[in-house]
Amino acid sequence: MRVRVFFSADYAPAGIPSLARLGVAAAEFERQGLADIRAPAPLDVDVLRGLHDEAYLQAFLRGREPLASSQGIAWSPAMRDATLAMLAGQIEAARHALAHGMAMNLARGFHHAVYERGSGFCPINGLALVAHAMPDQRVFVVDCDEHGGNGTEEYAARLPNLFNASIFGTRFGCVGHARSWAFEVRVPRDGFAAYAAALKRIEQRLERERPDLVLYQAGADCHVGDPKSRACLSTRRMLERDLRVFRMVRRLGLPIVVVVAGGYQRASAVARLNAQTLRAARHVLLR
Ligand SMILES: [Zn+2]
Repeated sequence: MRVRVFFSADYAPAGIPSLARLGVAAAEFERQGLADIRAPAPLDVDVLRGLHDEAYLQAFLRGREPLASSQGIAWSPAMRDATLAMLAGQIEAARHALAHGMAMNLARGFHHAVYERGSGFCPINGLALVAHAMPDQRVFVVDCDEHGGNGTEEYAARLPNLFNASIFGTRFGCVGHARSWAFEVRVPRDGFAAYAAALKRIEQRLERERPDLVLYQAGADCHVGDPKSRACLSTRRMLERDLRVFRMVRRLGLPIVVVVAGGYQRASAVARLNAQTLRAARHVLLR
């Protein structure tokens, strides 16, 4: 069986390497026969109203500097349109998962974006967007990117239906609060047992909160070959991470959206890690 994956060429403009690699992953999914790839319909930008400060949102939509490039990638119409396409995919993936159990958005989650501006290559927070667009759904983010989900953590304090749990090698300001849980794990220092223990704590939290939807930030930048990695998971440990997350949502009967999040080594290497995540999802959830 193939996994429903939302993606279009708009996600991956050639001039922006951190986005162009998403196209390499899509080609890898096709090559391995893993994905039923669908392009999302264009985003109705009204859904973004109130998610971010209106001055920032308008600056981003219209290219008004310096706010438009506040996330660190120079603003261009292609960058804006890629972001909006990924956000459209995020909402469609959430709807698909709520109806059918799981979906992937072959996109960045944009977990560093905060209310007033973009940050850390993240212009609009696509994880908080799901909670914002679906106020009747309780949304729980399981963030296993190399970097702490500080933006999502901030949104979890603003949105009563949003929860955030983040395991990271690089904290990025993510410290935890009433609806956000932060775990710093560096495997060379702490061992994979510490990573597994953090996942167990998140599973207990999921069991207590019983959300309607899980968003999984399956970052590839915590891989040992990534130039940004301090968590330093081997390829096999990355697979183990993914399997543990998919098994916990299967056990608890929770629908899940998988987002590929960060990855900064060679695009083909990131694509293989993304494909490994998709194979793990298929193995656990589509049997
Ligand atoms: Zn990252």
